[in-house]
Amino acid sequence: MAIEIENISKTFGSFKALNNLSLIIPEGKLTALLGPSGSGKTTLLRIIAGLETPDNNPDSDIRFNGQSVAERHARERGVGFVFQHYALFRHMSVFDNIAFGLKVKPWRSRPSRSEIKDKVSELLKLIQLEGIGNRMPSQLSGGQRQRVALARALAVEPKFLLLDEPFGALDTKVRQDLRNWLRKLHDELHITSLFVTHDQEEALEVSDKVVIMNKGRIEQEGSPEEVFHNPATEFVMNFIGHVNLFHGRLEKGKAVFGKIVIDAADVPADKLGKDARLFIRPFEMEISSLNAEGSIKAKVERIQAAGVSVKVELKSEDGKVFTAELTHERFRELQLVKDMEVFVSPRNTRIFVEDYQV
Ligand code: ATP
Repeated sequence: MAIEIENISKTFGSFKALNNLSLIIPEGKLTALLGPSGSGKTTLLRIIAGLETPDNNPDSDIRFNGQSVAERHARERGVGFVFQHYALFRHMSVFDNIAFGLKVKPWRSRPSRSEIKDKVSELLKLIQLEGIGNRMPSQLSGGQRQRVALARALAVEPKFLLLDEPFGALDTKVRQDLRNWLRKLHDELHITSLFVTHDQEEALEVSDKVVIMNKGRIEQEGSPEEVFHNPATEFVMNFIGHVNLFHGRLEKGKAVFGKIVIDAADVPADKLGKDARLFIRPFEMEISSLNAEGSIKAKVERIQAAGVSVKVELKSEDGKVFTAELTHERFRELQLVKDMEVFVSPRNTRIFVEDYQV
């Protein structure tokens, strides 16, 4: 079951939180809605769930598997919701929390007591919390509570799962464990899921599709690889991953950023002389002890080697500070130390002039 969103806007007072947004959430996939605070992620999620109404616009629609649900109440949309703050019922055991949605079903569709018991046991196994059904939420860790919240959402067998910053309130390690767990769980269940996050690493690691939002609009959508390696806009380039930014100017046939000069033929004439921004990812900065053509001279300012790669802070001759990232092997080869002079050449660059990508 896919979710189709068409021309959705949402205005709060005079503020446009969503601006004519259209999007398809593909069936059976885990899609991440990624964007800075205030970009409209939660608003969109709540509109899909039916917890918020979009602006009245005859061209807008929300379809679940081809069927419009725009007029349907949240209860009739068959959506499971998991919030950032464990919305568990504090006075109910884990078992009763998970069983809640089943127990409150109209009697005609309500499963029997033994069916409910079986279903809850199955879900406790799925969330790897077998044997703690009798505990109260206060006796669980934050990560365990979020898993229970997920089991509770899954109990009623929703067609879709919407997760709003589900791991936002947890510490880094638990967060990482839970995101891997969510990915594995999704591979088992294949339930069409949409989860909101402002953490780009989380979005890139976990999802099949990433939708990047900014100011109520979609900047780019695609696979994690696509948005990381082929950012469509300057905003996406900046927002995803670490990046070095250099300011310069576009001249005839070239872009000049201090000592860095890059070939730029085929640029529209009206962009010449305009301010340009050059983006280079730290891992695409090649450091060498030799002065190759096109490289810039820089001095090692700081080395941070405690990690999977080595981060080196450098300062160019014209005073620009930037970062390069290299393997430990290459770092040892180069025998880098503080204050050493090196030559740096960018392997892959992106240049933006106004809204145009060179
Ligand atoms: P965060 O990551 O901080 O949760 P978000 O991307 O989910 O941000 P939203 O919660 O969707 O953003 O909010 C989008 C914008 O709409 C924000 O500027 C917010 O202040 C505004 N907004 C959201 N709900 C309301 C409301 N009920 N009344 C007025 N303004 C609102």
